[in-house]
Amino acid sequence: IKSNVVSKDGLKYRTVNTDGPYTGPKEKATFVTLVRNRDLYSLIGSIASIEDRFNRKFHYDWLFLNDEEFDEEFIRVTTAMVSGTTKYGLVPKEHWSYPEWIDKKKAAEVREEMGKKGIIYGDSESYRHMCRFESGFFYRQKELDDYDWYWRVEPDTRIHCDINYDVFKFMRDNNKKYGFTISIREYPATIETLWKTTREFMDKYPQHLHPNNMLDFISDDQGASYNLCHFWSNFEIGWLDLWRGDAYSAYFDYLDQAGGFFYERWGDAPVHSIAAALLLDRSEIHHFGDVGYYHVPFHSCPIDDAVRLGNRCACNPQEDFTWRGYSCTTKFYTVNDMKKPTNWMQYTD
Ligand code: GDP
Ligand code: MN
Repeated sequence: IKSNVVSKDGLKYRTVNTDGPYTGPKEKATFVTLVRNRDLYSLIGSIASIEDRFNRKFHYDWLFLNDEEFDEEFIRVTTAMVSGTTKYGLVPKEHWSYPEWIDKKKAAEVREEMGKKGIIYGDSESYRHMCRFESGFFYRQKELDDYDWYWRVEPDTRIHCDINYDVFKFMRDNNKKYGFTISIREYPATIETLWKTTREFMDKYPQHLHPNNMLDFISDDQGASYNLCHFWSNFEIGWLDLWRGDAYSAYFDYLDQAGGFFYERWGDAPVHSIAAALLLDRSEIHHFGDVGYYHVPFHSCPIDDAVRLGNRCACNPQEDFTWRGYSCTTKFYTVNDMKKPTNWMQYTD
């Protein structure tokens, strides 16, 4: 049950004895996974990796969400895999359907067009409901009401490193509200009017923009255009009140009215990222560079030997995406005056 506080790079980590379960105070936090029954066996590898590397020491809960009822096998297997309490939620229809102002015929035409152009998920209707759900509704599920923090997990992902501290306590102790592992540039064809719509929102609701926001991470010209940088939202450790608050509600509603979740293919990743960059104090966003992460096709793998070996990371630093040209994490470190690993230049291309 040992827990002691370690400081590194100005951040406070409460590390725990890795041999036994941690029985100290916990946060009101849960894992959250949106998933279909048929993806059970893609998901259990993600769960095993998080349990082995982190949660077996902490036993945080896990909420599974689905737009259909979970079946018996899904519930039985996931219950056995998770060391905390598992919960199963059915997404209400109104969170997974067309709002009344959307022209479904126009939406169908767009899907056909985008499909022909070969845009990834361009022809998919369910993917659009998923992106809209993750953007505006996951945090409104009643099963999340009693939680302050969440960690989003997807099928077919991995954590590469031991995590010997409570990441949720870490977030609270260090005033963090949004945590990411990988950042990248979005496909412009999926978000053609997202920035224009965001600018309208900014003009209409200047009171919601944080005075110390991180506009310089998402725009290279003081907001004239979007540089496509976003945090990859398949991994998120976040503060639920960020999304529940007035500022984000106003932003989501504005985007939803504009219709781009259906008339284009706006992803929840750029939506969450733009919101986090504009609505938070820049110091409230954290790069989890020490956990190691994989979601096809990119790895985050600590290139600093002390971090990678110290945390027993099972990944190849040559495959790390963090400092490559197409990643935005170098920019994240630059605009925030943060110290990059001393050897980062050896991993830029
Ligand atoms: P990608 O990472 O952008 O390629 O998209 P994924 O296929 O991984 O989907 C993102 C997340 O939404 C994952 O957690 C999926 O399990 C989940 N998801 C996607 N589509 C659906 C759906 O139609 N129903 C449910 N219940 N979950 C979905
Ligand atoms: Mn995915």
